Amino acid sequence: MVSVMWFRRDLRLEDNVALKQAFQDSDSLLLLFHVNPKQFLSDNSSNQAAFFKSVAGLRDEVKMKKGTLHILYGDIEECFLKLKKEIPDWSNIYINRDETGYGLERDKLVSTIFKELGVTAHGYYDHHIHAAREIKTNSGTYYKVFTPYYNKWIELEKPGVVKVVFDETKLIKEPLFSKDEDQFNHSLDKQIAIKELQLGNQAAHERLDIFIKQDLNDYNEARDYPLKNATSQLSKHLRAGELSIRTVYDEVSRSNYSSGKETFIKELAWRDFYNMIYATHPDQKDQSINLSFRQVEWENNEQLFDNWKEGMTGFPLVDAAMRQLKETGWMHNRLRMVTASFLTKDLLIDWRWGEKYFQEMLVDYDPASNIGGWQWAASTGTDSVPYFRIFNPTTQSEKFDKNGDFIKYYVPELKNIANLKIHDPSKLSEKEQNEFGVMIGKDYPEPIISHKQRRQLTIKVFEESKKVF
Ligand code: FAD
Repeated sequence: MVSVMWFRRDLRLEDNVALKQAFQDSDSLLLLFHVNPKQFLSDNSSNQAAFFKSVAGLRDEVKMKKGTLHILYGDIEECFLKLKKEIPDWSNIYINRDETGYGLERDKLVSTIFKELGVTAHGYYDHHIHAAREIKTNSGTYYKVFTPYYNKWIELEKPGVVKVVFDETKLIKEPLFSKDEDQFNHSLDKQIAIKELQLGNQAAHERLDIFIKQDLNDYNEARDYPLKNATSQLSKHLRAGELSIRTVYDEVSRSNYSSGKETFIKELAWRDFYNMIYATHPDQKDQSINLSFRQVEWENNEQLFDNWKEGMTGFPLVDAAMRQLKETGWMHNRLRMVTASFLTKDLLIDWRWGEKYFQEMLVDYDPASNIGGWQWAASTGTDSVPYFRIFNPTTQSEKFDKNGDFIKYYVPELKNIANLKIHDPSKLSEKEQNEFGVMIGKDYPEPIISHKQRRQLTIKVFEESKKVF
């Protein structure tokens, strides 16, 4: 009897619940990754490029352990039929479950395919510290607000690190699907290159070690300042499961107490919270959760949307952040909040447009966290920023990039501005523009909107929407 371990968002050989069980239960095991071309994003997607890179990293890791990661490429039903034809005594499949979105829909589909093929599926929870349906209120409902959710979350016993006994003698090694592998390699070659992107299990461990040694203590104070690079930057490893969330929790919780450690662990709870919210609001990628704000009349001006994407809004912090996203596929959390607020509240562009653009661009794209973050910023989610509390992009800039060093790095047109007007270059006098070598309106745009006016308008638009229900 042959078993299959099907990797999806758990691309690692350690601390992996399904893999541990698969090795434990099987004498003959095939390690599998399936590529579904229907899921492809655009050719410029850094999200997709990063995910391909993570899969290739797992393949290398398996090879180093003298095994083979078999790749199936194409329509999912045809792929599993092909697998069964190739290995008629395939009888079990091991999977770490997806609880939301596309992954959940795919699993519903394959569960019927497996039944028809006579294959028993074994599903486990692995991707979160606490699974979506594990935490409920005392009356048995799901939480809508983070703080009470967190109070319960922190009290619960945490799952420990899982030891995988990797036994290469059990593995099916001879290549079986070389055409599929060629198609994967071809797609891999077509992915865009992303500057400074370190992926893989080893890189993830190195990042975790450095973060715990250097930044965890001061995380509470330093995490809001983009230039300090004081957050863990583990999200790109966690989203594809190159690093287990249990390993992160375990190593962090074994370090000495600090307020930084406490705050960091709370962030891990946000990750679980948004997974629970997505599982319990399955249409939240397409619909605002808050019924009161389903009638918001977004303006959806395409030119302004392009200005935002290109980092050409005339608001330096927004522009630096959007250019960072385009260049590196990553953006600091504070800047995700600022740019998402700017898109939805200053430009009155539908949060779904922003969510889709981030999906395309983020190397750490995680549907539950991204949708959760967008609905938070747009005030349309369950526990969001109130609609009348609108981030001022200039004061955010003065507060979180005081000397403008982050701005200067990503917006080189402004790099010679030697005073605090860098936060609002439209206020530079003609003399200053000459002195700093930047002509506003020519080298760098005038602000594309007036924040003050748009703020008043947006509050009105949200209030109009509220009247409907
Ligand atoms: P750290 O500050 O080191 O936090 C540690 C880990 O905790 C993160 O890696 C992440 O897994 C988790 N975490 C931290 N903050 C949040 C949060 N607010 N929500 C959920 N999990 C959190 N996070 C993603 O992983 N993928 C996304 O696609 C994503 N899109 C976002 C979109 C918007 C509009 C906003 C406002 C936030 C989004 N976030 C997303 C949450 C957050 O910005 C990132 O998790 C964080 O910036 C990743 O950097 P880090 O690993 O250095 O975080």
